[in-house]
Amino acid sequence: MSRLMVSISGVRGEIGSTLSPQTIEKYVMAFATYLKGGKVVVGRDSRVSGPFINDIVKGCLAASGCEVIDIGIVSTPTVELEIEHHKAAGGIAITASHNPIQWNGLKFMGSDGRFLNPDQAAKVYALADEGAFVLQPWDKLGRVKSDDGANQRHIDAVLNLSYVDVEALRKRRFKVVVDTVNGAGGLIIPQLLEALGCEVITINEEANGRFAHTPEPLPENLTQLSKAVKKHKADVGFAVDPDVDRCAIVDNNGQPIGEEYTLAIAAQLVFSKKMGRMVVNMSTSRASEDIAKYFNCMFVRSKVGEINVAEKMKEIDAIIGGEGNGGVILPELHMGRDAPVAVALTLQALLEHGGTMAELKASLPQYEMAKLKVNIAGMDPDKVLKAMAEKYQDQDPDLLDGVKIDFPDRWVHLRKSNTEPIVRVIAEAPTAEQARELAERFLEEIKKMG
Ligand code: MG
Repeated sequence: MSRLMVSISGVRGEIGSTLSPQTIEKYVMAFATYLKGGKVVVGRDSRVSGPFINDIVKGCLAASGCEVIDIGIVSTPTVELEIEHHKAAGGIAITASHNPIQWNGLKFMGSDGRFLNPDQAAKVYALADEGAFVLQPWDKLGRVKSDDGANQRHIDAVLNLSYVDVEALRKRRFKVVVDTVNGAGGLIIPQLLEALGCEVITINEEANGRFAHTPEPLPENLTQLSKAVKKHKADVGFAVDPDVDRCAIVDNNGQPIGEEYTLAIAAQLVFSKKMGRMVVNMSTSRASEDIAKYFNCMFVRSKVGEINVAEKMKEIDAIIGGEGNGGVILPELHMGRDAPVAVALTLQALLEHGGTMAELKASLPQYEMAKLKVNIAGMDPDKVLKAMAEKYQDQDPDLLDGVKIDFPDRWVHLRKSNTEPIVRVIAEAPTAEQARELAERFLEEIKKMG
């Protein structure tokens, strides 16, 4: 049986085993107790298990005196935006993000429309383990309301971004194929593209939660999209994960350009219009760093994890940031990864570049990544990482999150997993072969410690 995953990204488990009604109740009651009442926005992705979890979530919130605003099937970033719209005390997105169909989960957000930071999340999890929950008497129960305007408000907000020239895009009339993998994206991405004047071809657009393929938008899962882009001679293809915070791009030749480049393209567009600061996590491609430096803009790396990136962005007042997994954060709208924002920025970048998507990608700094993992069962991961840091101390490794060693044109990042006895080895270099060689070299060094 799989484990229940409890992390700074929320709670995730499998339906029929670890994500039981009792488990959902425990964490939602803890969150309600932490909030001490107020409005709570609740949205869910399209998963088949979503309705029953939604009922439990709303029931628990009402029982503890929270006023519930149910916004239906929406993206995770839409929940974040709606917290601000409704001036709510917090929000819950019912989603297991890019995980397969048997998973579901809860992502918790505070009144600022951001994920709980590590300290806040720790408080909620401590309350969950204590089990002393606030319960209101019959005359103080929370009410439940529905609001079906959330997706449209999100679209309108994207159309209003200062970086997006809606009129020019409408005139250009891009032909776009979009694969929303039967997730919540089917209710927002095609509609956004139409509002931007695109000729839209949808695949897997029905938001029924029966994912037509493995939902993580990695190149190997985008074959259907690649074929459709070629067949329709489209300008670009977009794929999003079920809760629509990650966006991957397929070029006009049907070639996935890699999720790392979604953020690089957004960064180049933003910096071409405005000076400012950028934050990415430690495993994100150096392409964005090169772009920031080209524009003489400050570039900072944070620990891995969306909230860590967002916290750092807030701290240094960044204008763009995100993660290399196709997660673009644009604070002008809000402090969360947002695929609708990524789609609009990509089309604007393509419009301004004037060439094809393949040419736009080729114009950016070129890097390739290799991601490996090494089983370290029986070894203490912290000792392994410490030994690696000592071995490479002449290279001045960055120890903010694991061990990252930078070389002139490449880097390697070693991180332990919080859920498995493995160390992840992520390497980036100018070519795929060099990246693989670098990752394998470090993998072997770790293995030899066993
Ligand atoms: Mg996601």
